[in-house]
Amino acid sequence: MSDCLFCKIIAGEIPADVVYENDKVLAFRDINAQAPTHVLVIPKVHIATIEDIQPEQASIMGDLFLAAQAVAKVDGLSEAGYRTVMNCQEGAGQSVFHIHLHVIGGRPLSWPPG
Ligand code: AMP
Repeated sequence: MSDCLFCKIIAGEIPADVVYENDKVLAFRDINAQAPTHVLVIPKVHIATIEDIQPEQASIMGDLFLAAQAVAKVDGLSEAGYRTVMNCQEGAGQSVFHIHLHVIGGRPLSWPPG
């Protein structure tokens, strides 16, 4: 999608600090990191929100979590642990309308989140 920030990152039109990539997903560091590790994992296909995922795209969610696993390995968090979050719609804090899995770790994380 031409006016989507994350599609532009996938296309290489906007720079990103890439941590992991395969043919389905791209993972890059959040520009406003909330923890020592704060990486966004996005599908290379444009999907605006969780609400827009079609049944035939279900495997993309698995691809995102496998990439989160790879990101954790890169940042040494596989044993220590990390949090994955996907905000859906503005009311839940979504500000970029191309689905993305936040991978957050490297500091103590409280629960429940604020
Ligand atoms: P959300 O609020 O869940 O939609 O998350 C969007 C995230 O994208 C925020 O944490 C932003 O800091 C992050 N973000 C926005 N623009 C960029 C960018 N150009 N590169 C990396 N992360 C970005």
